[in-house]
Amino acid sequence: MSFLDIDERLLELIEHIEFDRSPLTDIKTVGHCDLGLIEGGLCNAENVQVLREFRAHCKTLVAVGACAINGGLPAQRNHLDLGRLLTDVYPQGVPNDPELPLLLNHVHPIHEVVHVDYFLPGCPPSADAFWSFLTDLMAGRTPHLGHGLIHYD
Ligand code: SF4
Repeated sequence: MSFLDIDERLLELIEHIEFDRSPLTDIKTVGHCDLGLIEGGLCNAENVQVLREFRAHCKTLVAVGACAINGGLPAQRNHLDLGRLLTDVYPQGVPNDPELPLLLNHVHPIHEVVHVDYFLPGCPPSADAFWSFLTDLMAGRTPHLGHGLIHYD
């Protein structure tokens, strides 16, 4: 959502880029891309599979936000016993449909599984941080978040 907060700058952006798989498109698999923006930590097996797919297809991969960078708030579950947690949340029986991805014992930041080229901090990063980051990349510059654009909350 914070990315969409770039508001009317989105119109300028789409003159220069094309979206591949994203929550904004209906594309189900990842094609070859210049840039992959990954939000969220790794909580289940499907997260790992999708992340690997992005890494294999994107020249540059970015960990966006606290969850992708260090696990974020969801990683607070790392202090709890997963089995106990599930039985507490699902007292009537833990869902076991094979279609459901298995949870990982711990929540992991994405850099623990794949190489990450850039980190865009914040929970979430501000729209101005997204804009600065993307305009730098599109201009062929190494992204540099100026004063006021780096925060971790
Ligand atoms: S906004 Fe915060 S909690 Fe939500 S995905 Fe981004 S970093 Fe995680």
